[in-house]
Amino acid sequence: MPQITLPLSLLAGVLCVLSGCAEAPVQTAPQTSGTGAAEETGSARFGAATAILNAGVMANLGTSGDGSVKLLFDPLYDNHFGSLQELPPELAEAIITGAPPYDGVDLVFVSHAHGDHFSASMLVEMLLNDTDLWLVAPGQAYDRLKEQENWHHGLATQVRTITLRNGETTQTFDLSGATIKAFRSPHNGWPERHSETHNISYRVSVPSGDGEVMRVMHLGDADPSAEHFAPFAEFLAAKRTGLVMVPFWFYQSDDLDAILEETLNADTSVAVHVPVNVPAYLSEGTRPYFTQVGEVVEIPLTAQ
Ligand SMILES: [Zn+2]
Repeated sequence: MPQITLPLSLLAGVLCVLSGCAEAPVQTAPQTSGTGAAEETGSARFGAATAILNAGVMANLGTSGDGSVKLLFDPLYDNHFGSLQELPPELAEAIITGAPPYDGVDLVFVSHAHGDHFSASMLVEMLLNDTDLWLVAPGQAYDRLKEQENWHHGLATQVRTITLRNGETTQTFDLSGATIKAFRSPHNGWPERHSETHNISYRVSVPSGDGEVMRVMHLGDADPSAEHFAPFAEFLAAKRTGLVMVPFWFYQSDDLDAILEETLNADTSVAVHVPVNVPAYLSEGTRPYFTQVGEVVEIPLTAQ
């Protein structure tokens, strides 16, 4: 496994959640090197992105003070389609109920309304459990939420719906102390497959003092063709992203370095959505990828 640090306290906490034990042992995580200024906070670290499963990632941005923001990307899903890891019920329950390390989540992002990224029923449950929670999701996912038996109209105030055409971006908007830019590009396999699916990427920034920010980007199931990113060249070039979370097939691209460094303008990357049978271009490569709950990569600071 290349370049992934795994704080013991976080892993222990997750395993504890999974096994149902009452108290997670508190251990000190090893300090990581680099510019991310990661900080140990007990159940989760700031300046770190932590694997959930599949395309699910938890990111803790900001500082350990009041300026901190906890995000989840594609955390809850219904379907593993035979090639992906199943979401264990205990893990789903921990996320839905906000058990550590999933306590105090500010924002949940849904990239698109496919069953391996999205569970309408579980997300409605999560919204019902935490009235301070924001959900940011494409209109196609919102339509599914409203079909759920436990949905009620009051929950609409907790949902920010993204409606875009391919090649379009939202205006920058702020929620819970995070600055968000959403943009839509074609789903992988376009145009033969899933051409009607609204695949939304999110770039999220939180100030971290001294003119620096923690900025992450999650691409959902984006198709890696450079032409799809051309409409976003200006805003991607304007801000350096510390960590981009890409679907694993990006790592198969011949021009991966250029995609990450120039097109996406990111310091570091981690591949997500990795199948159970890990492709050789991941396992034999040098770039990090997530396959297990609790794996962690640092989020480098970048300029505002
Ligand atoms: Zn998909």
